[in-house]
Amino acid sequence: MVFVAALALASLGLAQAAYAAGSVLKVRLGGDRTETRIVIDLAKSATGKVAEDGSVDRRVVLLLDGVGVNADLQGAGQGLVKNWVMDSTMSGARLRIDLAADAVIKRRFLLPPADGVSNYRYVIDLGTGTGKANPARPVQLVAEPVLPTRAIPLPLKRVVVIDAGHGGHDPGARGVSSNEKDVNLAAARALKSRLERSGRYKVVMTREEDVYVPLETRVRIAQRADADLFISLHADSGADTSIRGASAYTLADRAAGRTAKFVSKDDWFTKASLHGDTGVANILFDLTQRATKNRSASFAEFLLARVDDHQPLLRRSHREAGLAVLLAPDVPAVLLEMGFITNLDDEAALRDPGKRGQMMAGVGDAIDDYFAQQTRIASR
Ligand SMILES: [Zn+2]
Repeated sequence: MVFVAALALASLGLAQAAYAAGSVLKVRLGGDRTETRIVIDLAKSATGKVAEDGSVDRRVVLLLDGVGVNADLQGAGQGLVKNWVMDSTMSGARLRIDLAADAVIKRRFLLPPADGVSNYRYVIDLGTGTGKANPARPVQLVAEPVLPTRAIPLPLKRVVVIDAGHGGHDPGARGVSSNEKDVNLAAARALKSRLERSGRYKVVMTREEDVYVPLETRVRIAQRADADLFISLHADSGADTSIRGASAYTLADRAAGRTAKFVSKDDWFTKASLHGDTGVANILFDLTQRATKNRSASFAEFLLARVDDHQPLLRRSHREAGLAVLLAPDVPAVLLEMGFITNLDDEAALRDPGKRGQMMAGVGDAIDDYFAQQTRIASR
């Protein structure tokens, strides 16, 4: 056993793989001290049960009934995980995790084979504990194979993070009589009140004033909010002042070169693409980015359909960029360029509180559309 452990330790990195004849194929870890993801690759579907959720003795124990483990697997940790062991019990597999810091299970879900991955994946996300975890109310059992929606009960209100681009000493693009940072913030405020009026959303803003908020801070805000949706509001610019119209960006495939080409004119995006947040290691990204990308694209389509009622669209209105590298990989994210601040008509519309309010009402409708669709999918 000592030798096995030593071997396991020697082969560490992001992941420790052990291909066994049982139905646990491998266990992988990714993330950082804020959020750590554990992925159990399974040969078949499984139901998980939490025996310990991390709130006691910094230990998490998950039982996978009916799942075989051919030989004990173990490995050193990453992020919030100090070390882990996967072994067999009478009824199935047992994963024991010793935590490196106070943390609890934030969510877990089962991903069926999809998007080129041929096996099931049981995903557990650990997050730093806030003391809110209630040991008397253990997390419910995960359902049978489901779409990658959150396995724990959804909060009553959906959490929407609104990111007003730029701010403070970073004005963003400049129009004739306004700066991008100001119209972004005004639009963000309008959207916030539209969403809050509905009573259905909890809104988190990355900034509420004309202040500079570093990208890393925006990322943290979005991650800590446990967002269901992230929308970043910007205004476009171009040397050709006749170009106008709104457009939306969603996550591109991990093709840095192509992304960089699209983003070069917007510093925010460029930084986003180059940032390479280690908290969103490739392993995490691979796992859910396709599903997230699909959901982001779905939201972008709703968004453009609704924005179209109030503002002309740029001809190629749905574009792709590296936005989601910023976020937890299962948070759908869209960046809306509300129009060209360098175009006089667009700038006038962006500056007009009435027109801006109408456009944000449209964005709010699109958010309603999106969650209505997600609910339909989840209840299918
Ligand atoms: Zn911008």
